[in-house]
Amino acid sequence: MAHVIDGHFDLLMDVTIQRDRGKKKVIETDYLPNFKEGGIDSIVSAIFVDDSFLPEMGLRKALQQISALHAEADESSEKIKVCKNIEDLNKAKKEDKIGFVLSLEGAEPLYNDLSLLRSFYELGVRLIGLVWSRRNWVGDGSHFSAVREGRKGGITDFGVQLIEEAEKLGMVIDVSHINDEGFTDVMEFAKNPVIASHSNCRTLANTMRNLTDDQIKAIASTGGMIGMNAVNFFVSEHDKDSDIEHLIDHMDHISKLVGVQHVGLGFDFMDPFMKYVSPESSLATMQRKPFDVIKGHTSVPEITHSLMKRGYKDGDIELILGQNFMRVLREVWK
Ligand SMILES: [Zn+2]
Repeated sequence: MAHVIDGHFDLLMDVTIQRDRGKKKVIETDYLPNFKEGGIDSIVSAIFVDDSFLPEMGLRKALQQISALHAEADESSEKIKVCKNIEDLNKAKKEDKIGFVLSLEGAEPLYNDLSLLRSFYELGVRLIGLVWSRRNWVGDGSHFSAVREGRKGGITDFGVQLIEEAEKLGMVIDVSHINDEGFTDVMEFAKNPVIASHSNCRTLANTMRNLTDDQIKAIASTGGMIGMNAVNFFVSEHDKDSDIEHLIDHMDHISKLVGVQHVGLGFDFMDPFMKYVSPESSLATMQRKPFDVIKGHTSVPEITHSLMKRGYKDGDIELILGQNFMRVLREVWK
């Protein structure tokens, strides 16, 4: 049976805000029913810090989100488990709990202090997205749409050290959001399988946040995988084509290009969180309004159905739903 993993979900911002207002068991109440209905086993829970808190509040906001997840797991100990290794993930599934894995979405909480990476590891962070769609101490993110800027750069000396340290600790390097120059650099310095947790194919939807065919081949050559993103502008250049079938087209494209063993899920669902995005943020000021092309985690069975209709065998579908992700985690985690 498949181990179904969503490789990228930003729920902790919402969980933290609701907990600040005094609510408890937010995940159990607001999210768990959908996870169950969709047959989700594990969630990679991203730690994301909005522009408005940077730089000074980056570390504090990240730590708050980590605390919130651990508190939620205590309150809902029969239903939620924070997972730090493969055994934890398998145990959670066996006990019918949702396994949560922490990931940094952008290294901003570290600012320029590499020693903090160890602290995040000890707190359970097992994956690290080097940048979000902005510049940080590691490198440059790829913007969602064109901005006025000077020459773009690759990753910094700090970025190289971060990759080395993260791999030494056993963290997975995630290249979603990095610019093309930085991508090339990561491929040069990373030794372990690399993932793009929530990026699609640029050939099918031409945005800098998606991967070129060469980049897909580069990730595949590390043994890594790519999580398919369900947000409209990564799925299609036109809202009218932003639907489940076009999402499956991206899975198909990668399967044909490098093999089904490099395809996974990283839905990046945004609908529940858009209310929190600050009005000045690059997300809020985009011309095209972001929306999810499928109705959240409950739609996973529709993806399975659609893949079957296209001739994917059960074993291939299981790889896409989570086994590929598990393979990478097994290889990189200590
Ligand atoms: Zn993202």
